[in-house]
Amino acid sequence: MKLYRDEAVVLRTRKLGEADRILTLLTRTHGQVHAVAKGVRRTSSKFGARLEPFSVIDLQLYNGRNLDVVTQVDTLAPHGRAISGDYGLFTTATAMVETAERLTEIEREPATQQYLLLVGALRSLAEKVHPSSLVLDSYLLRALAIAGWAPTFTECARCDAAGPHRSFSAPLGGIICTNCRPPGAAAPAPETVGLLGALLAGDWGHADVSYERHRTEASGLVAVYTQWHLERQLKSLRHVERA
Ligand SMILES: [Zn+2]
Repeated sequence: MKLYRDEAVVLRTRKLGEADRILTLLTRTHGQVHAVAKGVRRTSSKFGARLEPFSVIDLQLYNGRNLDVVTQVDTLAPHGRAISGDYGLFTTATAMVETAERLTEIEREPATQQYLLLVGALRSLAEKVHPSSLVLDSYLLRALAIAGWAPTFTECARCDAAGPHRSFSAPLGGIICTNCRPPGAAAPAPETVGLLGALLAGDWGHADVSYERHRTEASGLVAVYTQWHLERQLKSLRHVERA
């Protein structure tokens, strides 16, 4: 029986049998791990409450026959309680953990940067440091950048011509010059493009004083960009499985 210890964010939990839960965890050093927590749905359970989604925990596991088994849990940051009690924070955090789960789908492939980014984003969400829509958009842009799909918001994503440019194309990778502009590309306000760059860089001094209309426009573009890349990733994964 091989024991190991790690820190993790609880991405998702589902019921198993009468009293157990299966956890989807993003760990600091072992990447995504699926583990079973036995007896945690009984009221007498010592650590059931510590295993809520969005919480950051320190845990000990052993390699089981199919799934790893949780033997010990300590809370590092009880974000689950703060986030689950607020519907807006809950839906925002859900979008973040679902994205993290998709971007770390290969089980046990170390994803420490994704882990640290998610922990920081959940903390600023729970502590209401910045508006939650900005935290989400910054998280999505940076998570995609770590995954290898960094958007560009200054030079043209296709030909590298120096900016500023006025068009945006998710398939081409961000901001596009007039020569490269594909039909149907979005034409966001210059302030929106500036905000997107600030969210990618984590420049909160800039992002926190942005106007609502630019935040809304930026969120729409981030959603399109995220969806386009995640769908492409899923297609490529299906392709790998068939090969
Ligand atoms: Zn160009």
